Amino acid sequence: TKGSPEQIAYMQCIEQDFTLSTEKLEEIKNHFKSEMVKGLDNEGQTLAMIPSYVEGRLTGEEKGHYLALDLGGTNLRVVLVTLEGNGKFKTVSTKARVSEELKTGRMRDLCDYIADCIDTFLAQQNLDNVTEELPLGFTFSFPVLQSKINRGVLLQWTKGFSCSGAVGKDPVLLLQDALLRKHVPVKVTALVNDTVGTLLSNAYQKPATLAGLILGTGSNGAYIENMSKIGKWKDGKTTSDEMIINMEFGAFDNERTVLPLTRFDNKLDRKSINPHKQIFEKLISGMYLGDIVRNVVTDMMDRNLLFNDTQQHTEIISAHYAFETAFMSSIEADGTVDLGVTREVLDTNLNLVNVKDEELRIIKRLVELVGTRAARLAAMSIAAIVEHTQVEEQGVDIGIDGSLYEFYPSFEERMYEALEVLLPQFKDVRRSIRLGLARDGSGVGAALTACVADRMM
Ligand code: ADP
Repeated sequence: TKGSPEQIAYMQCIEQDFTLSTEKLEEIKNHFKSEMVKGLDNEGQTLAMIPSYVEGRLTGEEKGHYLALDLGGTNLRVVLVTLEGNGKFKTVSTKARVSEELKTGRMRDLCDYIADCIDTFLAQQNLDNVTEELPLGFTFSFPVLQSKINRGVLLQWTKGFSCSGAVGKDPVLLLQDALLRKHVPVKVTALVNDTVGTLLSNAYQKPATLAGLILGTGSNGAYIENMSKIGKWKDGKTTSDEMIINMEFGAFDNERTVLPLTRFDNKLDRKSINPHKQIFEKLISGMYLGDIVRNVVTDMMDRNLLFNDTQQHTEIISAHYAFETAFMSSIEADGTVDLGVTREVLDTNLNLVNVKDEELRIIKRLVELVGTRAARLAAMSIAAIVEHTQVEEQGVDIGIDGSLYEFYPSFEERMYEALEVLLPQFKDVRRSIRLGLARDGSGVGAALTACVADRMM
């Protein structure tokens, strides 16, 4: 059974809407490249291209004890990173919950709490009586306008935080104050962006690293740029002729000039908490992919093309974000002839029972289309960075963090396939553009940022 003529006709249109031809992908890549240049030359562009103040490269021979602090989610994390050289390191860490009270109270109380957590952790590690202050890299995952490697101002709170006495102030100074008050021997030497941290954590083990990407709940990229190409740089002489740029590429093409958005993408955007923003991110990241599939499935339901002659319980799948991207991973991994795994996913998570074989096949195909489009677009951003920086045949490493890259079956393979068509100038793309999992940008990466900051002093 191949489905009804109506189903087949509908799916033919969907195949067209979601398939990115090589020509289209190239057009997008070229636009991405010109947006990179615009963002490097001017403030306030769609690709923000933010200078990170992280200057120069790592060799992998950096050594010493560094602390990392990660604030921005449910938990606060403190990590002690011991860099041993030769790309090797050890970590020990601790986590503490950030209560609602702390998230919405006074910033001074939050900083005191953080200082206490660090103090307790140092005591556990027998590091509370050191003669020299330990350098700390602070991953503060909120919108910050940075002015130095260890200076910035909080523009606004997000993600449920709303402490008073913080907006418009420097989170580094506020935390340092608390550490001083409590005599904790720690110096906050770097304010860290997690994507920049991802790049650095990859670079410590692979010094030929050019870029870091995050493909998780959201998405972003960072890469190493020549100072001479950062036309908008006004902060004077640097210690190196290279600096990491935080691209903030989730916002790419917010003006919708080149991305082939379908009506399903438009619907997702309209119903999101940030309409017209992060348009590229909405095509490629974990928070959204499942919902794009869900939008097609519900459209087919509305047209009586799915689940129409069985008594289905469709309340669950009708709810916003009910179809998780992790379900797509399970469905993609389903290699059974009767699509038993797909059937199980729909039954267990969405209460869809007795789904017909041809319906299972349609849903699996929808998942493949949405997942493949995402992987190809993510690869497009890498191809643009590679061409912009004129990478040569000997190649570069690209560090990628995030569940989508780590767990989604064939995501990496599909990225390589897209790189092959986008970068024909490389004889063997897989050897020249080496993708790899880069874990813990906010731990190891933040510690490495503190290490670079030390070097810049
Ligand atoms: P974060 O980006 O928040 O630091 P992750 O990298 O783990 O964390 O990304 C979480 C996102 O990845 C969520 O949006 C979730 O839907 C998605 N996700 C979680 N597990 C999987 C999986 N197995 N396959 C694909 N996506 C997943």
